[in-house]
Amino acid sequence: MSEAALRLEGVEKTYNKGLESEVAVLRGASLTLAPGEVVALVAPSGAGKSTLLHIAGLLDVADAGRVEIGGKDMGGQGDRARTRVRRREVGFVYQFHHLLPEFTALENVVLPQLADGIARGAAEARAHRLLDSVGVAPRADHRPAALSGGEQQRVAFCRALANAPRLLLADEPTGNLDPETSDRVFAALMDLVRETGLAALIATHNLALAARMDRQLHLDAGRIS
Ligand code: ADP
Repeated sequence: MSEAALRLEGVEKTYNKGLESEVAVLRGASLTLAPGEVVALVAPSGAGKSTLLHIAGLLDVADAGRVEIGGKDMGGQGDRARTRVRRREVGFVYQFHHLLPEFTALENVVLPQLADGIARGAAEARAHRLLDSVGVAPRADHRPAALSGGEQQRVAFCRALANAPRLLLADEPTGNLDPETSDRVFAALMDLVRETGLAALIATHNLALAARMDRQLHLDAGRIS
């Protein structure tokens, strides 16, 4: 059996520990994502979805519990190893695209590959393929400001997948789009995920989108059900 793409076991996180404003957001959250699985993380705003995704994506550390990516325990790794895993094995998509405004769509997808040591020619070829697969290849030479919200978010998906991660973490990836655009952009994301065969954990409070994924997990009172 292949290793889980992501495994969280008993993850705990409290903000402002010891202060009056202390808030225990995660209280023993556990989940497992198999390779290729697309899973919705459903919960209302403020429930801790972003906190959980940041811990899963090694952008933040848990107070307690275990985080495994591709079968490897991340708790035992130093900063350099965590950075390498985050860069190579995890792709992030946020509600807002966060593309670099001074670079074209193509360059936004090329740059993470150059940072990972890929040669420019190969990086550009991959960026073109990715942009083409979500229908924005004709806009490859435009800067983000010249793209629609839906196009910007499609480019952000391509950037997240630029280094062929094994795990995609998405935080309300269509939350900033009108319902019709959201539907189309979500379909593009699903196609991309299915094509590449990576595992995806997608936080949303949109139940219609959640129903289109393989499985739904609910985050309630700091635990997953
Ligand atoms: P969601 O993504 O589901 O909206 P978040 O993970 O962003 O939820 O936040 C969960 C709770 O933790 C909220 O009450 C939020 O105010 C609080 N929180 C998030 N980040 C911090 C922080 N850096 N410091 C203090 N409290 C935080």
